[in-house]
This record gives sequence, C-alpha cells and structure tokens, in this order.
Amino acid sequence: MYEAPPVAVVGSGIAGLFCALRLAEGGRKVQIFTKRRTQDSSTNWAQGGIAAILDKTAKEAIEAHVQDTLAAGAGTCDETVVRAVVSEAGDRIRDLLELGVNFQRDEDGTLHRVREGGHSSSRILHAKDATGREIERSLIDAVSHHAGITVHSDTIVVDLIRRNHSNPTAGVEGLWVQHENDVEVRTVSASAVVLATGGAGQLWAPTTNPPVSTGDGLAMAARFGAHVKDMAFVQFHPTSIEHPSRTFLITEALRGEGAVLLDDEGLAKWRMSGDEDPAPYSFTLKTSPKGSMGTRDVVARAIDANLKRSGRNAVWLVTEHLDAERLTDRFPNIQRMLSDLDLRLGMDPIPVRPAAHYTVGGVAVNAHGQALDDANRPLPGLYAIGEVACTGMHGANRLASNSLLEAVVYAQRTAAHLLDSEPYLGSSKLPAWRADGLLPVEEHGALAHDLNSLRETMGREVGIMRRNARLARAQRRLDLFAEEVDNTWLRCRPTKDLIELRNMVQVAMLVVKDASAQQENRGLHYNADLTDAGHESTP
Ligand SMILES: Cc1cc2nc3c(=O)[nH]c(=O)nc-3n(C[C@H](O)[C@H](O)[C@H](O)COP(=O)(O)OP(=O)(O)OC[C@H]3O[C@@H](n4cnc5c(N)ncnc54)[C@H](O)[C@@H]3O)c2cc1C
Repeated sequence: MYEAPPVAVVGSGIAGLFCALRLAEGGRKVQIFTKRRTQDSSTNWAQGGIAAILDKTAKEAIEAHVQDTLAAGAGTCDETVVRAVVSEAGDRIRDLLELGVNFQRDEDGTLHRVREGGHSSSRILHAKDATGREIERSLIDAVSHHAGITVHSDTIVVDLIRRNHSNPTAGVEGLWVQHENDVEVRTVSASAVVLATGGAGQLWAPTTNPPVSTGDGLAMAARFGAHVKDMAFVQFHPTSIEHPSRTFLITEALRGEGAVLLDDEGLAKWRMSGDEDPAPYSFTLKTSPKGSMGTRDVVARAIDANLKRSGRNAVWLVTEHLDAERLTDRFPNIQRMLSDLDLRLGMDPIPVRPAAHYTVGGVAVNAHGQALDDANRPLPGLYAIGEVACTGMHGANRLASNSLLEAVVYAQRTAAHLLDSEPYLGSSKLPAWRADGLLPVEEHGALAHDLNSLRETMGREVGIMRRNARLARAQRRLDLFAEEVDNTWLRCRPTKDLIELRNMVQVAMLVVKDASAQQENRGLHYNADLTDAGHESTP
C-alpha cells in the first residue's frame, strides 16, 4: 500500500517541536527542517516566561487575562481566539510540565508567577530568566527520543511546492530544501507542511531576535498565495543592550521587580534628591501614568522620542534602589551578560534602548492553524503556527509573554487537525528545482552590503515612529533592493545568504505596504502624520 509522505515541519522553536511531537505521538511520520542547529530559535532566547492561568475553574483570573490581552491589542484582537487561547493555557502548561519543563517553583512546590508590563496580576510562569531555553531543552530532548521524527538541521527550506503550479488553492505537496554543505536543492514530498519559522526581527537593526529570524516562512507563504496580514504591527522591545556578541534583551520582568527608566537628567535629579524611589523622576511618566511599567509600545515610544531629542544612544535602567542579591538570584542569565560589560544588577545604571522584537502580523490562519488565501479559504495542507502566523490573538499589539502561549496552543491545534484529517498521499512526480545554467554567487560581500542597507532602511524609515515621507522613501529603496536581488536570484544558485536576503526584502515590502495603508495610529503602528485611533493600548 502506498504510504503518505511524512508531514514536513519547518522550524524547531516551541511551535515546530511541540507540533512535531504531537503528530508523532498520533502515529504520523514527521520531518523537521531547521536552518541552523535545532536550538537556534527565538524560543531559545525567550527570557520572561509564559502567561497562563492553570485552573480552568478560575473564571475571574481567566477573564482578567482575556481583558489584559484585549486591552493591549488596542481593540483589534479576535476575542474568540483570545478566549480560546487563554482557556487552553492550563492544559498546554500541563503538557509542558509532563514533557519535563522545569518552571520555577516556590519553596512549597507551587509554581512561581511573576508580573510583566500590561498584566494586571502575576500570572507568568518562568524558569528564572531563561524560560525559553528550558522549554527548548525539554522539547528537543523529547523529539530526539521519538522514532517517528527525523530532524534535518543546517537545512534551509527554500520554497514550497504547489500541487498545481498555477493554482495555490489546490494545496501544497512538498518543499525544496538545501543543506548547508550542498549546492544542490533537494525536492521533498510532504503530506502537509507546517510553517513554524518564527518572526522577522532581523529586518531591523538593532533587534533582539536571533540570526534565524529572517521572515522566511512569511515570504514563502506569500509567494505560495497565502494571505499575510497586519505586518505594520512590529513590536519593539523597550530595553535592549548592546552586548559584544549580540543585542541582548533585558526582560521587563526586571521592571516588574521595580527597575526604573531614567534619562541623564532624571538620574542626576534623583541622585541629588536623596529619595529612595527613582520612579517619580522617570521621563516615561510624561507619556503614561504607569511610567516604566506601561505596555511595550508606550514605553518604547517614550524612549525613542527621548533619544531623538537628546541625540544620545541609550537611557538608563536603574536598579540600585533594589536588593542586588535578590535581583542576581532572580536574573542570573542577565547578570552573566552584564558582567561581560562590567555592570552589576542592583548597583550600576544599565544603558538600554529599543530594538525590534516581535512580528505581530503574519500568515492569516484559522482556528486549526490552516493558512488562508485572500478570500479566507484554507490552502489544503499548508499550516502556519507560532510567530510566523497571525491568529488574531495579539491584535495591534502583543501582550508580554502571550507569544509562547499562543505558539504552543496552535501547535496542538494544528497537530490535532492533521491527525483528524485523511493524509494527502502526494503525487509520484514532484518538480525538481530549476538549476540549469545557474552560476555560483560571485560576491557574498555584495549581499552582506545589501543586507546592512536593508536593515538600516527599516530601522530609520520604518521604525517605532513613522512618517508618510519616510515610508515612501523606504518603498523606493525596497523597489531597488528587490530588483537587484531578483536579478541575482534569476542568475545564481541559491545560497543561504541569498535565500534569506530575498525573503527579507519581500517581507520588508509587506511591512511597508501595510504600514502605508494604515489610516490611523493604533497599537504598535505610530505614524506622526496620522491621528490616533483613540485606543490607548495601555491597559
Ligand atoms: C530575546 C527574546 C525574548 C523573548 N521573550 C519572550 C517571553 O519571555 N515570553 C514570550 O511569550 N515570548 C518571548 N519572546 C517571543 C517568543 O520567543 C517567540 O515569539 C517564540 O519563541 C516563537 O516561537 P516559534 O516556534 O514560532 O519560532 P522560533 O522559536 O523563532 O523558531 C523558528 C525556527 O524556524 C527555523 N527557520 C526559519 N526559517 C527557516 C527556513 N527557511 N528553513 C528551515 N528552518 C527555518 C529557525 O531556524 C528556528 O528553528 C521573546 C523573543 C526574543 C527574541
């Protein structure tokens, strides 16, 4: 009997790994393709935690989580999705615990919870300040012990293959992939393809995202014919720091513990005053009564405006009024990174600035994670989960620590939907990658230069504060980049750099298009030439 080809899962963060596990447990063969090492993902870098109410009967607590999420989303979340995800949180956390995720516990064994900006109560589970690493560790461990799952690391997915070349609504039947050491592009058939490729933070400089976050899944889905939406909404994390190895995020849980944002003037005034509490001296109070604990968009905008005014590179995150020992115990990972810069929690002001952090928009999906086309029809066999997807959960702004939750909930749903469906048997003959006459890329230096220019353009013209003229300038530059990259693409054999750059230019164009189409300021989109929607996304 002809056996259905395996399900192809693209990406090995929380979404891809969890979905692969569930599929394999249900008896499906799964191939995971991941473009670097398995652990290279945003998931592995997540610090703060995962928001969840465990007790399904705690109606008030669940309702409060729903309301905080809706408020952060500035009136544009899909309330049905929010309610479903928040309600399923307890089950998914129990799954993660069963898989061996060691969330932090109090001395009596109860799970420790913390609070972050935008949350009205302490509902965030964490593993000190390296929650993502702990989740990734457990999932990789489980995946590596499952005979039904094959992991292809250092293997980039180049593109998706349609069942009918000219009709995306016929569905997907495979992918083209390239191993790091190969020039060849291999054809892989798949009974379904689950995109779990994460976000596109690498489009901006600076970013908190790992190098793998280049928006590949978004670009592939758009080329396939899927609807990609809400790309104007890009979350900039207010507090990142330049570490020699990378832009390093300082979790807002530190502000939850009492850290305060001050500019030079505020810091000097506070020190002169002899007051215990620096909070009244924060410039962030000018934009929100919540000061340093406002939602990310409000705080990031306050810092951005402050830096533009002062011409400086960073403001200060002040912790010297707090207990140094307690902070070091709670944030050991952050302290380790700070030590490399000769900075100590509870003693030194930490220089911070905003950096691109989370891609709120993405591939439009339904409740099963099925990718939709422009007419809202599911594209057979194609799914998108995690940061690459746009489920409607986050609206115009993501509430802190809701993304790991959304990813795991949709990973489960997609696996369940696939297990309930008849597997697609595939066709006997899939098209090979067109390689005839293609030349090697002559100059990778030119690609690196284009990449830097692209990131600089996005940072300067399509950053936290936008303007019509800036968006138009960005569009003109992107048109030029696109032309150059397309020329190279048509002449040359694909390489990882070229594949990523092409995807990034395409995703950048989706961002600028959506940002230019916005008629009002809402959530994470702020254009100084538009009026406000009247929806403050600060709960
Ligand atoms: C520094 C940092 C801190 C964060 N902290 C939190 C937090 O505390 N709480 C929270 O809820 N969220 C947090 N987030 C956001 C959260 O981590 C991400 O939204 C989430 O981990 C995304 O999971 P994912 O599985 O969708 O994608 P990822 O974890 O990013 O995984 C994507 C995978 O796809 C692979 N991939 C991409 N393109 C291709 C391709 N073409 N071919 C093959 N493989 C490909 C990548 O290599 C990677 O394995 C944080 C993010 C960052 C960057």
